[in-house]
Amino acid sequence: MQIEIQLTSQPIAEKILPPHSLGARGAWLEFRGVVRAEENGKNISALAYEAYPEMAEREIRRIMESLAAKHPCLAAKVLHRVGIIPVGDTAIYVGVESAHRGEAIALLMEFMNQLKQDVPIWKARAVTETPAGIKSQPLAPAKGAGLSIDEALTKIRTHSQPLPGVRVPLAEAFGRVLRESVSAAEDFPACDRSTRDGYAILQNDPAEMFQVVDTLHAADWKPRQLKSGEAVRVATGSAMPCENLRVVMQEDAERMGDRVKILFRENGANVRKRGEEIRAGGTVMEAGTDLNAGAMALLATAGCVKPIVSPSLKIVHFTTGDEIVPPEQAPKPGQIRDSNSTLIRNLLQKYPCDVTQSHLRENFEEAKSQIAKYKSQIENANVLVVSGGASAGEKDFTRELLAHLGFEIIFNRLNVRPGAPLIFGVNGKRVAFGLPGNPVSHFVCFHLFVAAALRGLCGAKSQVFLQGPLALKLDDAPNSRETFLPARWGATGLHPLKWMSSGDVTCLAEANALIRVPPNSDPMDAGAKVEFLPA
Ligand code: AMP
Ligand code: MG
Repeated sequence: MQIEIQLTSQPIAEKILPPHSLGARGAWLEFRGVVRAEENGKNISALAYEAYPEMAEREIRRIMESLAAKHPCLAAKVLHRVGIIPVGDTAIYVGVESAHRGEAIALLMEFMNQLKQDVPIWKARAVTETPAGIKSQPLAPAKGAGLSIDEALTKIRTHSQPLPGVRVPLAEAFGRVLRESVSAAEDFPACDRSTRDGYAILQNDPAEMFQVVDTLHAADWKPRQLKSGEAVRVATGSAMPCENLRVVMQEDAERMGDRVKILFRENGANVRKRGEEIRAGGTVMEAGTDLNAGAMALLATAGCVKPIVSPSLKIVHFTTGDEIVPPEQAPKPGQIRDSNSTLIRNLLQKYPCDVTQSHLRENFEEAKSQIAKYKSQIENANVLVVSGGASAGEKDFTRELLAHLGFEIIFNRLNVRPGAPLIFGVNGKRVAFGLPGNPVSHFVCFHLFVAAALRGLCGAKSQVFLQGPLALKLDDAPNSRETFLPARWGATGLHPLKWMSSGDVTCLAEANALIRVPPNSDPMDAGAKVEFLPA
């Protein structure tokens, strides 16, 4: 019986297919244990499951194998989610495939009974606080310093849990996040292969003259055991005729008719050994991997043509401010061209998504009637972003607007610079940001905070700060707020870029990093190690 077991912190997909394609007969029996809203008479919002993962997997396999002897089935798949699992989500999934449904039902029933008794996975606690979805009064304009970046990121990540994965053709997977771990059906490479054009001989053959007994091209498969004094002409990529061979480069050999004289042997064998990259059954790629071009090539090599990946996100972005005019319009005195729509649209290119963008008038009542037209987009959005109106000015209504749309405001002030009046709100699984309107604040807040939410929703690993040397002296006066400076990261280190104010877009064209300057830092010399985030 084919058995697949996975303990995962990711949501379990809504649709799971049997491993074999069933013909006219046979059954695929599925069980889903879903977290319910009540635990021991109390209302809960989530359950936290913990496990000893290796022991749990070993025990599940042992149970399945012993049951397979009693109730012969074709395949079984057990997925158990661990960590915090919200109400309504699947905690355990068991799928059993069999030729006759009776066998699958019997196996599943016995398995579920034994699972409870023998497997070290347990409910660690019930989560009673509501992480999201409760409508509350908007927070009063925050006073005081506000949250640190680490506190803000923790809140954003807690509320941006991975959305269920979807199975897509490989051609549509670029830029998504892999949501299953992919294992190798065969060794990589599948056989010993030459890395050179030359002559294959026994690894320790001391002879100088060799008889050329065969010629192999890249696609040839001609196994034969070589004897001492025998050589096979091989091309780069040729499958070797047997194991324990070395390849002498053709430049190190002299061919004479059907014989070849070896002039020089390198230390290395010039052979990619069978299974040296990955053994059959080994992990090709882990869940949570960003599918860049290289990762896509690896999935293609492994024959993973329909991976489970993060869904394409749905994003709604509103700009605000009566001074804003479209880029194609000449601004009158007092007006400025909208650069944030272009900035956000292009920053989002890295995350496969559908983006709806529109502009709102700077009058709350008018804005409410404008957004009514986007009701379904907002309801279906994973992320809502509002540019501008995030501070406490008379006309700044982003907080009220988000509350009007049912978002609970989680925070609305940070101890960072630029970007202090950032608003973060949550409504069910949807998250919303109110970004301070200045383009530099937008750039910083997107990379630090919006990207953290997008990565969380996609099930990607969190971004980490890197370390690098300053290319120039940084002699800004100490500031009580943590500061993020747009910078250019290159061979000589990090060059902080000049900007006159957070409205200054000129530095953004050059910026590919944000330097993190901790609160109250003294000036730093060139060469000092600083943390930075690639941007
Ligand atoms: P606010 O956050 O609405 O107070 O805006 C702060 C600054 O950002 C103001 O100078 C705005 O004119 C500017 N701003 C707001 N929205 C945009 C936008 N879409 N494009 C360029 N600048 C903007
Ligand atoms: Mg404004």
